[in-house]
Amino acid sequence: MNVLIVYAHPEPRSLNGALKNFAVRHLEAAGHTVQVSDLYAMQWKPQRDAGDSTVAPIGPHFDASLDSKHAFQNGFQTADIAAEQAKLRWADAVILQFPMWWFSMPAILKGWVERVYAYSFAYGVGEHSDTHWGDRYGEGTLAGKRAMLIVTAGGWESHYSPRGINGPIDDILFPIQHGILYYPGFDVVPPFVTFRAGRMDDARFAQTTQALGERLDTLFTAEPIPFRRQNAGEYEIPALTLRAEVAPDQSGFAAHIA
Ligand SMILES: Cc1cc2nc3c(=O)[nH]c(=O)nc-3n(C[C@H](O)[C@H](O)[C@H](O)COP(=O)(O)OP(=O)(O)OC[C@H]3O[C@@H](n4cnc5c(N)ncnc54)[C@H](O)[C@@H]3O)c2cc1C
Repeated sequence: MNVLIVYAHPEPRSLNGALKNFAVRHLEAAGHTVQVSDLYAMQWKPQRDAGDSTVAPIGPHFDASLDSKHAFQNGFQTADIAAEQAKLRWADAVILQFPMWWFSMPAILKGWVERVYAYSFAYGVGEHSDTHWGDRYGEGTLAGKRAMLIVTAGGWESHYSPRGINGPIDDILFPIQHGILYYPGFDVVPPFVTFRAGRMDDARFAQTTQALGERLDTLFTAEPIPFRRQNAGEYEIPALTLRAEVAPDQSGFAAHIA
């Protein structure tokens, strides 16, 4: 199978660098073909702007959505964006790997999403009607592919527990897993999170890579997180709220997981 790792860490000799190298070796040893988008090494341009199209804005000023659509549909995207979209189409599974910085992904990776996820590619896909609100949340361009996060965090696991001070890790990762990965169609398998990453020694690193290897071995077989499908009858359209009879006692992020 084809695996794309989109990797965001500025230092090759970091813990993330070591985990990324391990993941590549492990996946290749299992017979997979791996590509890595090493965003810092590529000097990835993170900001979405008028320079993302090879032609001038179609309107009187730059419009981040409409100019994206125009460039995508007419072949005017810059080569770096088109190349990353081609890697996404090539991949059977996509791994986003990053250190948690300020409760989210490093800016360079967010900028990869903002630029590569073009209008008509990752959003604005499919028809809108009374029963179908676009191809998204379980449908879309990237449907049929798998995705997984590999994340390191300085905080302890207890800090990210259901009553931990940082908020539950599933909640913190929800906008990435549900909003960035499930939205354009990926089946998202549970994340691999290394907590208290600053406290790493050779013994713990060996345990961590052993556990990561086991997770990579099930990348294509593990049960995805059961996010609810938008167009399968559980949501009112166009309000896109859960129907009253679905998870009536739940609200917030957890309500969108069956
Ligand atoms: C701007 C910023 C914001 C942050 N925000 C958050 C936040 O919101 N929440 C949070 O929890 N944390 C946060 N942190 C902490 C951050 O998540 C961790 O610093 C990061 O995850 C550690 O990953 P790293 O790859 O940079 O590790 P490194 O600093 O490279 O390494 C961590 C430890 O692993 C050891 N190590 C590295 N490679 C190996 C190896 N091959 N074998 C054995 N040991 C090894 C190192 O010696 C070191 O002790 C933040 C940090 C920064 C800089």
